[in-house]
Amino acid sequence: MNASHKYDYIIAGAGCAGLSLLVRLIASGRFADKRILLLDNKSASGNEKTWCFWEETRGYFEELVHKEWDTISFKSKHFVKEYNIAPYRYKMIKGGDFFTHCHDIIRQHNNITIVQGTIENLSGKTGDTWVQYDGIKATADYIFNSILFQTPPLRKKEILLLQHFKGWFVETFEPVFNPRIATFMDFRTSQHHGAAFVYVMPFTAHQALVEYTLFTASLLEPKEYEAGIRDYMNHFYPSVDYKILQQEFGIIPMTNHPFPSANGNVIHIGTAGGQTKASTGYTFQFIQKHSEALVNALIKGRPLSGLSPSTKKFSFYDSVLLNVLATNKVPGDKVFTQLFRKNDAKNILRFLDNQTSFSEDLRIITSLPIFPFFKAATEQIYKV
Ligand SMILES: Cc1cc2nc3c(=O)[nH]c(=O)nc-3n(C[C@H](O)[C@H](O)[C@H](O)COP(=O)(O)OP(=O)(O)OC[C@H]3O[C@@H](n4cnc5c(N)ncnc54)[C@H](O)[C@@H]3O)c2cc1C
Repeated sequence: MNASHKYDYIIAGAGCAGLSLLVRLIASGRFADKRILLLDNKSASGNEKTWCFWEETRGYFEELVHKEWDTISFKSKHFVKEYNIAPYRYKMIKGGDFFTHCHDIIRQHNNITIVQGTIENLSGKTGDTWVQYDGIKATADYIFNSILFQTPPLRKKEILLLQHFKGWFVETFEPVFNPRIATFMDFRTSQHHGAAFVYVMPFTAHQALVEYTLFTASLLEPKEYEAGIRDYMNHFYPSVDYKILQQEFGIIPMTNHPFPSANGNVIHIGTAGGQTKASTGYTFQFIQKHSEALVNALIKGRPLSGLSPSTKKFSFYDSVLLNVLATNKVPGDKVFTQLFRKNDAKNILRFLDNQTSFSEDLRIITSLPIFPFFKAATEQIYKV
């Protein structure tokens, strides 16, 4: 083994999870003597993503928050409501800002090597922990892996839905958006492809991200996403002239497949480590909590596996909601309408954040259509 390919830690994948972990390792000041390799097959850019999430306090990446809202709205055919979500704030970070910020920090530390390379394989065997990339084998004590090498093979009652979306950053000639209110979900769009909604993140009265999103088993044709956004704009902002400044497209796997938290000394992080909430696709905040837990465990010399912020209870709730959506026991627009009609948005956000107590869970669960949810729960328990 070439000594130059020997590291203490390898971070496989320099996306949201890899960088969130690495900047925390650096900030702790406890790993300056460790040789760290950061590997990704792309050069940093990240402009293709924006991350939205909610939190009560200043977050770790607070200075990167591009825009935040203390009011969100939910809309469906027969129900429209605005909610003040204080003490939460709904926040947006632009991927490009995040990548620039993290790489600016990383570049100042010469114990970190950044390599662009395609990882083909990795192993977490004790004493033989390595990644193979571009014909090179690099070894380490630990590998933090955020690469999902393949779609996981599903076992009985494991469900995979896709959250797929196309967004346009639009600029209108007239002031049509209310920059104080983020539209969290607007189901007043055709449901013929399955559960579909639009969210609108207004930055100013003239600029917003308008994103057409679906929770379904298969993708659409590119022109169908564009039709979804265009129809929405035409219907709710009629005769408004606008230009498209930028676009984003994404697919987030929504699955109750249990991702292993580690394979030996390979510690899985990010979506590959199960940090994407199965029922919503939200991942950013779970990655932040997981990164913090990993750094603390490394400092204290504690085991690095099993630190995921999700628990069995919330994984089960996710499975039930996923089952309801995937089998269309209740159409998605009806599920979410009932959820928002009968609960305060703050409680919903806490629930979706895996933060509620059992009695709070019960209040939310009993507000949903009882029979279909009970049937879904039974199916998920008995895995028939
Ligand atoms: C467009 C988009 C928007 C999203 N918006 C939100 C949001 O608003 N809120 C939210 O909570 N979540 C959101 N998500 C979900 C989630 O937060 C992101 O997917 C997040 O980037 C996941 O982080 P990650 O580190 O697991 O994966 P990634 O950020 O995708 O990082 C994985 C890295 O691995 C690299 N890689 C892959 N294969 C190889 C290989 N073989 N060799 C070397 N490198 C490799 C990739 O280049 C990538 O940089 C969004 C996802 C997408 C796709």
